[in-house]
Amino acid sequence: MDLYRKVAELIKSFKYLVAFTGAGISVESGIPPFRGSQGLWSKYDPEEFAHIESFLKNPAKVWKMIRDMFTTVLEAKPNTAHKVLAEMEKRGYLKAVITQNIDGLHQEAGSKNVIEFHGNCKWLLCLGCGKKEEVRKELIEKLPYPKCPKCEIPLKPDVVFFGESIPFSVRKKAETEVSSCDFMLVIGTSGVVYPAAELPYIAKIRGAKIVEINLEETPYTFSITDYFLKGKASKILSEIFTKLS
Ligand code: NAD
Ligand code: ZN
Repeated sequence: MDLYRKVAELIKSFKYLVAFTGAGISVESGIPPFRGSQGLWSKYDPEEFAHIESFLKNPAKVWKMIRDMFTTVLEAKPNTAHKVLAEMEKRGYLKAVITQNIDGLHQEAGSKNVIEFHGNCKWLLCLGCGKKEEVRKELIEKLPYPKCPKCEIPLKPDVVFFGESIPFSVRKKAETEVSSCDFMLVIGTSGVVYPAAELPYIAKIRGAKIVEINLEETPYTFSITDYFLKGKASKILSEIFTKLS
């Protein structure tokens, strides 16, 4: 039996499938990942640029990266991989998507139960008064950075930066899904950003099967992955989906 058919059979036979996605699933929508062959890493070291300490120390420098990334993200559209996951949920095969992405493309593709582990880039937050402003092109284009009209301090995207903690409610929701799942699809993540990267390990310890889709091997591949499907998320998910129906 080919591997796609095998995974499709497993999806049908297991009760609670959860997808855990990373930047790789949005690469085919034109958003570069941080790591991997076409990563943003070479341009900006994310642990330096996307760190809360850097933001507080030098917001103008960090806003250069944010502007660069958000301009792309705001124009991006869901690709086949996002759409297949949404369709799988609609047909009852998939219970939830836990995503590390901040691009909102799973919801745009039609997924309903989406847990955004690192928040999303639709809002900017004032760390002074807590006011939120919806992201707009003119706002993110303000130099050196957009400011809160009241406090005159830089607005921060309402996403989780390195050095910040995951909101408790989000963590709780993710852990509930992970505890319920008996099958996890791990798609397009390098598996190195913690605590998010822990989730597949927790699923595995609780007895879930792990299917991983990635262009390259990750720390999961030789430790917890039961089936590794090497290649682009859109192609592989479409193949699996064809064999499901
Ligand atoms: P990562 O950038 O560390 O790794 C991306 C992974 O995706 C790599 O392992 C790469 O081999 C794989 N990949 C690349 N193209 C692929 C494709 N077409 N199909 C399948 N796999 C593919 O991503 P991460 O593990 O999600 O960690 C990065 C962190 O940065 C995330 O937590 C996220 O918050 C943030 N981020 C988000 C976005 C986004 O919202 N789209 C983009 C970049 C970074
Ligand atoms: Zn303010």
